[in-house]
Amino acid sequence: MPPTVKTSIDINTPVQYLKGIGPKRSAVLKDLGIQTVRDLLYYFPRDYLDLSRIEKIGNLRRYVNSGEFVTVIGTVRARDTIGRPPRQRFVLALGDETGTISLIFFQSLRYYQKAFEPGDTLAVSGKVTDFRNRPQIVHPSIDRLAAGADEDSDFEGFLHTKGIVPKYSSSEGLRTVKLDTKGFRRVIRVALDEYLGAVEEWLPPSLLDEHKFLRLPDALRSIHFPESQDALESSRLRLKFDELFSMQLLLALRRKNVKTEFPGISFDVESKLARQLVDSLPFKLTKAQVSVIKEIAQDMKTPKPMNRLLQGDVGSGKTIVALIAMLIAVDNGYQAAFMAPTEILAEQHYRTLTNFLHNIPVNVRLLVSGLQKKLRDDILLDVQRGSANIIVGTHALIQEGVEFAKLGFIVIDEQHRFGVSQRIALKQKGLSSHGHIAHADMLVMTATPIPRTLALTIYGDLDVSTITSLPSNRKAIKTALKTESQRASVYQFLREQIRQGRQAYIVYPLVEESEKLDLKAATEAHEVLRKEVFADMNIGLIHGRMRPEEKDGIMSAFKERKMDILVATTVIEVGIDIPNASVMVIEHAERFGLSQLHQLRGRVGRGAEQSYCILMAPEWMRKLQRSSQNTGTVDDEQEEQRKTERRLKAMLDTNDGFKIAEIDLKLRGPGDFFGTRQSGLPELQLANLLTDGELLASARQAAFELIDHDPHLRLPEHRPLRKHFEEHMRDALTLIQAG
Ligand code: ADP
Ligand code: MG
Repeated sequence: MPPTVKTSIDINTPVQYLKGIGPKRSAVLKDLGIQTVRDLLYYFPRDYLDLSRIEKIGNLRRYVNSGEFVTVIGTVRARDTIGRPPRQRFVLALGDETGTISLIFFQSLRYYQKAFEPGDTLAVSGKVTDFRNRPQIVHPSIDRLAAGADEDSDFEGFLHTKGIVPKYSSSEGLRTVKLDTKGFRRVIRVALDEYLGAVEEWLPPSLLDEHKFLRLPDALRSIHFPESQDALESSRLRLKFDELFSMQLLLALRRKNVKTEFPGISFDVESKLARQLVDSLPFKLTKAQVSVIKEIAQDMKTPKPMNRLLQGDVGSGKTIVALIAMLIAVDNGYQAAFMAPTEILAEQHYRTLTNFLHNIPVNVRLLVSGLQKKLRDDILLDVQRGSANIIVGTHALIQEGVEFAKLGFIVIDEQHRFGVSQRIALKQKGLSSHGHIAHADMLVMTATPIPRTLALTIYGDLDVSTITSLPSNRKAIKTALKTESQRASVYQFLREQIRQGRQAYIVYPLVEESEKLDLKAATEAHEVLRKEVFADMNIGLIHGRMRPEEKDGIMSAFKERKMDILVATTVIEVGIDIPNASVMVIEHAERFGLSQLHQLRGRVGRGAEQSYCILMAPEWMRKLQRSSQNTGTVDDEQEEQRKTERRLKAMLDTNDGFKIAEIDLKLRGPGDFFGTRQSGLPELQLANLLTDGELLASARQAAFELIDHDPHLRLPEHRPLRKHFEEHMRDALTLIQAG
């Protein structure tokens, strides 16, 4: 395609036409989601190097053991590897005109040995300590300002002005087209110079004035090339507000939509069935459970459709709460649907519910895909005629051909596994079963709890109930980290536990690129364990590729203690409830996300016995067993390693799902954490829902007021805002409107 002749500059110009980019680079950028010049301008630095505060090396003595971070600039004078493993270390001597300092590395020696040449100019920061009365910095964070032979440094300018230099995330792929941090600096500078004039302000003037925000073009320039720390702060504030405000506008629109629809059902909440169930339980409901049941009942009583999120840590007892609510609906002559993300989970819920209800006249049916036609037809008929009271199932519930007689209550388990559209699809089933006059009440459940205020803000369209404590019969799970060299003792431990009558899970991670590989790892391990390590025990294998009946058979066998050990892929991640299984080994724990690890761990600790979770991690993480020490970062890979360390450390430090969620949120960023696509909300790059609470509150207030005042964004002062939405948030809007 020949480049089009530009008549006026357009911020949505494909990035390929930017000077210095071209087809090769633009192809790589596309994978990153950068297609237009605008996208490039919104690729914000991941960090900055502040060259305005540089110390001379000769002055470093003053900082010894002060705990302060200091930055110096110098040239690599010499390098050496000294000592023997495990005390081996790599030393760089860095000098300027006032002296030299030693930079010491204990880890990733091979990386550092290759990374720097004498003559390289480096900016290094860290805390100064001393060794034999000479100052040194251990594992500083390093920026290479110029390579020895490389004349072409783009730091020259910054050095003269003592500016603040942006650093950009890069990757293997980006580096092959020379889009490392330096490459990004260049192309973004070009983009700013040529296209900033095309950036349109979208916030209404009144808001800008009220908050004294930077104008958008200024904010974009400053976030990349700030002239001072203050300028950087102002630009971050403005751009964070943009993110939060967009998100809150979407939520405000969504809530507006929900409100104007049909009414809900007003249930009589004095339910005999529910009373009967509670009286027959082998345990007493916790205070926390009772209080959320009250909140739910209160909602069910009112004719407004309930949209409530029930959050509670793994094992907090959400299922029984849901069941009590469903029984209220059944007592009122309605059906209840209970949708779970996987077949195993649906089957388990089905079994749990029928067990709880064994003396109570309620007809529970299970609908999953892959049933034999005759059985499926029978179930569908039961559902359609209304003789099925509670229908448990997977996505199969929202398929065509499933018709409910009178669906009044919907439970969605592990909501983060479902998209908004699936939630909506089930609601639609309810609506059509009432001849489109009333909405079913909906309870969505999650075991990834977040602070209540935050939940309110993120799930702006949902009310939130939280189960704040676990049943009191639980013992805290003991979590340990082990490495390959300790494997034998881990197996020994398993053996002892099994001898005492316990059962164990050994979990293998999902290898994202290939489900096959994933399967292979688990299958092979199973073979080895079965034939060699635990030849005298019963070992089962379960994975996602098995047929539902097969999986069900294995889970039942494990539950009935016909197996001692269950080797599993992550199919057991959510919800599985087998109290006698009290040991879990997680292989390649470093590959799991934090919330996922916590979910997995939640599979044990469900009975009265002491439970254990053993995280198997690579050898280099062994130091975590002692204490964690922070090392400086030099690049993205190291950054990743640090995050991995923090994830595993969090697992060792706490069993509290709220704390875990908070740490996860910090490490991953909210967009990732909440699964942006699923929530239908835009990605947050800069704003942090945990730490930017005040800004969030003001964005929320402004957004809700604006939508109240001008729900269709028709006022002239909202025209740019409307355009912004149409151009950049179309997908999110569609989802909202579907709801
Ligand atoms: P989750 O919230 O993770 O879905 P479940 O609903 O699966 O938790 O409950 C975990 C286990 O705790 C189940 O075996 C359940 O029967 C049991 N349980 C639920 N409530 C209580 C309670 N109040 N006291 C003791 N055990 C309970
Ligand atoms: Mg559950």
